[in-house]
Amino acid sequence: MSLLACRGVRKLFGDHVVLDGLDFDVAEHEVVALIGASGSGKSTLLRCVNLLEELDDGTIHLDGEHITDPRADPDKVRQRIGIVFQAYNLFPHMTVLENVVLAPVRVHGMPRQAARDLALEWLGRVGLAEKAGAYPDRLSGGQQQRVAIVRALVNSPRLLLLDEVTSALDPELVGEVLSMIRDLKSDGVTMVLATHEMGFARQVADRVCFLDGGRVLEQGPPEKVFAEPVEARTRQFLGRII
Ligand code: ADP
Ligand code: MG
Repeated sequence: MSLLACRGVRKLFGDHVVLDGLDFDVAEHEVVALIGASGSGKSTLLRCVNLLEELDDGTIHLDGEHITDPRADPDKVRQRIGIVFQAYNLFPHMTVLENVVLAPVRVHGMPRQAARDLALEWLGRVGLAEKAGAYPDRLSGGQQQRVAIVRALVNSPRLLLLDEVTSALDPELVGEVLSMIRDLKSDGVTMVLATHEMGFARQVADRVCFLDGGRVLEQGPPEKVFAEPVEARTRQFLGRII
């Protein structure tokens, strides 16, 4: 059974159809890269999965539970799905540790001490233990983004969604974030990452999904999709950016 199962997902903004009956599955421990032209709906799909957008049709199941059921509690669902955006959005007036424990304690009701212990453990694992008491402006962009990822991991989510997490970074800072994501993959963290970095998708993803026309037009192992794309649209897209 899939950890995440999207069926017939439809999402419109006004009369603009962004997701048009999309099916998308992710298995436990799998790392899936979403690729596709700007505006193809990668972010919208991630936002739908995290219940930041309401579907116009279709269903999403996580661990067999129907999370897009109107009776589902979005806070409970989001406890099990971490999301990190392009701009890291740390609170500037809070230390790294305070940033990381805020949501688990305030939103998800985790005891403060347990949240602190988990936060410090995660910060240690990603080499940021000594930054726990620092304010975000003392950190590099790469360090800030790693803290944002830690913040999403403290709830031990079943699924981690990463939306262009390296796009806002200076090129020399991209490597440390990619290396962290590679470590998370070795730890078995299930991830869906929207990215326009094909090199990264190729290195870290078990499967690449090409979004086009509101659906997954083509998918497969990166070596296959990048080397021998079947669909003309995929070839066209890859030809443009590689
Ligand atoms: P991608 O992440 O692949 O670049 P997005 O999911 O951000 O694509 O956007 C898909 C389309 O939906 C774009 O045409 C975008 O302008 C539109 N869109 C996204 N969010 C909104 C919104 N809140 N209101 C109106 N249109 C939106
Ligand atoms: Mg996007």
